[in-house]
Amino acid sequence: ASVISVPLSFFAGIGGASANGILIKGSTYMEILAKVGTVVFDKTGTLTKGNFKVVDIELYSDKSEPDVLKYATIAEMNSNHPIAISLREAYKIKTLQGEGAKDSLEDIENSVDNDNYEEISGYGIKAVYNGELIYVGNSKLMDQLNISYKACSKLGTVVYVAVGDSADNVNCIGSIVIADEIKTDSKEAIKKLSEGGVSKTVMLTGDRKNIAEYVGNNIGITDIYSELLPGDKVDKLEAVLSTVETNSKVAFVGDGINDAPVLARADVGIAMGGLGQDAAIEAADVVIMDDKPSNIAKAINISKKTLRIVKQNIVFAIGIKILVMIMAAVGMASMWYAVFADVGVCFIAILNALRAMKYKG
Ligand code: ADP
Ligand code: MG
Repeated sequence: ASVISVPLSFFAGIGGASANGILIKGSTYMEILAKVGTVVFDKTGTLTKGNFKVVDIELYSDKSEPDVLKYATIAEMNSNHPIAISLREAYKIKTLQGEGAKDSLEDIENSVDNDNYEEISGYGIKAVYNGELIYVGNSKLMDQLNISYKACSKLGTVVYVAVGDSADNVNCIGSIVIADEIKTDSKEAIKKLSEGGVSKTVMLTGDRKNIAEYVGNNIGITDIYSELLPGDKVDKLEAVLSTVETNSKVAFVGDGINDAPVLARADVGIAMGGLGQDAAIEAADVVIMDDKPSNIAKAINISKKTLRIVKQNIVFAIGIKILVMIMAAVGMASMWYAVFADVGVCFIAILNALRAMKYKG
């Protein structure tokens, strides 16, 4: 009965989870999910939509707004970071509105040099176009390259655009403020997790402190670490891992853009399947197909239910057998007791295992 019902419970649990849009890559991860006490989140693309919109452009030179956007678009042409997608989109809208943007997005796409381009994870982009050097990224990128810039304090993710003819003559020509939206069910997701027994939620982000705290406060995460590079995220996760009790597990949830290493390092890595990159979906142990953070609590609850059923079956199957054995020893059991202890118990355990497939809530 146990040999049949235990794997069957896990299959049923995994099947039930996938019917809810949650792919769990094996029974081991179900066992870990059932013990998760800490959930660590990435921000962009995980708690927020990763659907940035340009809300403001500040100019620091005689270059116009379309010029600043055009340089940004040139640099971001080959990136699939949510920021890159939004900048290209904003430039496209400018060209359609005919607001001083002369080259179409297609013209730029055909003329960029795909080899002279470097994506600096957690910082931004470096590109060369028509002999000009272009840097597009956050304040850390500007600091690292010793480019002087006027810090923009607006609430949002700030992307600085710097252009020059040689490495020691690069000037910041403007900043673009882009804003992301918090996913509608992020707040509920955090609430459901704490109701379900997750004692701690943490946010790790490469974005700025003010925006990180804004998102965290809004949805109810108190442990916030911002302005992290991909490597820092791994260090912070190590720190979290070292503080939890041995029987409590740590899950990391990310979209994989700049956080694949953390996904791999956590006890269980959960990736957003819609927005996420292929590498992340591969590195993750669990994939949330519809990108809804509230499905994390669901995945944990399905795993807990499945493990409960597995334990019930083991106790039931072995318990009945021992009972019938004792009864047989004292001469109280007939052949039919033995048949029930074997086939009957097996049948009931299978029926119980199939309950793992159904999950409401
Ligand atoms: P998060 O940790 O919130 O998911 P990321 O690690 O993806 O964010 O990015 C961290 C920061 O690095 C961004 O907020 C941005 O400032 C900068 N950055 C990363 N990639 C790019 C890019 N392609 N263009 C501009 N800035 C970028
Ligand atoms: Mg991210």
